Amino acid sequence: MIERAKEILKKYYGYDSFKSGQDDVIGSLLENRDTLAVMPTGAGKSVCYQIPAAVFDGITIVISPLISLMKDQVDVLDNLGLPATFINSSLKASEVRNRLAQAAKGNYKLIYVAPERLETEDFVELLKGIDVSFLAVDEAHCVSQWGHDFRPSYRKIGPFAENLSKDLLIGAFTATATEGIKKDIVKFLNLKRPNVFVTGFDRANLSFAVLRGENKSRFVRDYLIENKNKSGIIYAATRKEVDNLSESLGKEGIKYGKYHAGMKEKERTSAQEAFLRDDIGVMAATNAFGMGIDKSNVRFVVHYNMPKNMEAYYQEAGRAGRDGEPADCILLFSAHDIMLQKYLIEQTVFSPQRRVNEYKKLQQMVDYCHTSRCLRRYILEYFGEGKVKDHCDNCSNCSDEYDSLDITIEAQKILSCVYRTRERFGSTVVAEVLKGSQNKKMRQLGFDRLSTYGLMKDYTLLEIKDIINLLAAEGYLHLTEGKYPVIKLGSGAAAVLKQEERVWQKKRKKKEPVRNDSLFEKLRVLRKEIADRENIPPYVVFADSTLRELSSTRPTDGGSMLQVKGVGENKLARFGEEVLNVIRQHETDEIL
Ligand code: ADP
Ligand code: MG
Repeated sequence: MIERAKEILKKYYGYDSFKSGQDDVIGSLLENRDTLAVMPTGAGKSVCYQIPAAVFDGITIVISPLISLMKDQVDVLDNLGLPATFINSSLKASEVRNRLAQAAKGNYKLIYVAPERLETEDFVELLKGIDVSFLAVDEAHCVSQWGHDFRPSYRKIGPFAENLSKDLLIGAFTATATEGIKKDIVKFLNLKRPNVFVTGFDRANLSFAVLRGENKSRFVRDYLIENKNKSGIIYAATRKEVDNLSESLGKEGIKYGKYHAGMKEKERTSAQEAFLRDDIGVMAATNAFGMGIDKSNVRFVVHYNMPKNMEAYYQEAGRAGRDGEPADCILLFSAHDIMLQKYLIEQTVFSPQRRVNEYKKLQQMVDYCHTSRCLRRYILEYFGEGKVKDHCDNCSNCSDEYDSLDITIEAQKILSCVYRTRERFGSTVVAEVLKGSQNKKMRQLGFDRLSTYGLMKDYTLLEIKDIINLLAAEGYLHLTEGKYPVIKLGSGAAAVLKQEERVWQKKRKKKEPVRNDSLFEKLRVLRKEIADRENIPPYVVFADSTLRELSSTRPTDGGSMLQVKGVGENKLARFGEEVLNVIRQHETDEIL
């Protein structure tokens, strides 16, 4: 059976081998065992239910949470040559009946269904007469209240399946691995004696970084300039932060989309669509954005604020680099983020016990932002991975792409200024004293006579404030809560003032712009043309990794093009000639 699965992987998807865990999960399903697969984002869960769907005689129903993405998922399958359709509230009743009639004739292998559908009584009725082999539940953690994406309608899946057939095969797929959630999935989906597979959580192609005390908007601007033409997401913690962020992107003339729950459905969908289609490169969003988005060429995920816990962080960051090509996951930390997250926890209606738990998880997130050990190791140990290497060479604590700057002298000046102004003022006043500001307040308070007055006159006020933020992020300073936070000395301050401890800031080295791979760029243009013509997102045509391989191996005919990862028979037939033409033309141009 698994041999047959491998053939399908090659013929339709153009991949030679399974990714880690895929063969186990597919094997289990092909043996007709209920299966729970916990695999990180980008591990290739879709293939795990699509291949069994292709093998089984009857139809496979896929429950997927987001209506707006179903069309894309179906487009992906159509382009692979696997007939599929979707049913959700965007369709008229007559169209639903029409699609089900087609299904009854065996014209589809998969139907994607929104969970809300299952609440309508007549849906089961309509399915009668259709041979259903398999129910695949994607994003299965939505069934659990412990997760962050609880969907009440996911609770209808269990009874629905029971109603359809007592021994319907069920496969559940998620990236969230906590015990409570796994138990809930088994319980509410009614999985019978399930095989549970949890694959390794490492995503070797992702480079992790935490930067503390950065001027965030300046960092984002520089980063985006450096990474022009790449696709990425910038996550901020609240709608307001997203609005501020997008305002500053706009001022810089950067083309971006915006997504949060406060926007109209229509605006959100069109922003999402533009992002998927590479019409815009950057998406500024809250965590409302991203679930179920299978765009494989996301090259970076920047967190403008620290998220609430490691599960949320890894899921969001994990949306980068699904195609296996290198991608950046950068978290910009400030002490303010902790206050923000605490405030958000206080706003919830959670039980006291649950709140304690949320605080604990928040602390583990804060610890991640401050550890000096390998970040990947921290993540993998957090998720309970057994043997983990000490160094990964691909995070801001291991890699030499990050510099450590000694800012002890600046720190001493600031700490001593906070001390001399008696820990009674906010960062603006402290920065003004150090800058030697001429404003009236300085004279009124007698600060112009302090020994620290004008001690940092060569810095801008903004630069001084940035270092204050860094010292707060490192715990040398402490900001009081409330609207006008006052700066106090933190626990490590004395040691710095007494010259016993040095203060470092981690900085990302400016990268040399990578040499332009002009064939890759030409193929990218072709991909966008095809995508627009076929009305599908570019990553559905070919992944970035496929374009890279095409541009490095330069196949000359169909046979050699089939050897390239991500080129299956259907895609070869549809786009092969155009691709080969671009490669030939490029080679001619090189000679001339
Ligand atoms: P998940 O749902 O687990 O986040 P996806 O199913 O969206 O991941 O797959 C992520 C990417 O990996 C997709 O671009 C997919 O085509 C690719 N992929 C899946 N299986 C393989 C494989 N065996 N070899 C190479 N790439 C694969
Ligand atoms: Mg998925």
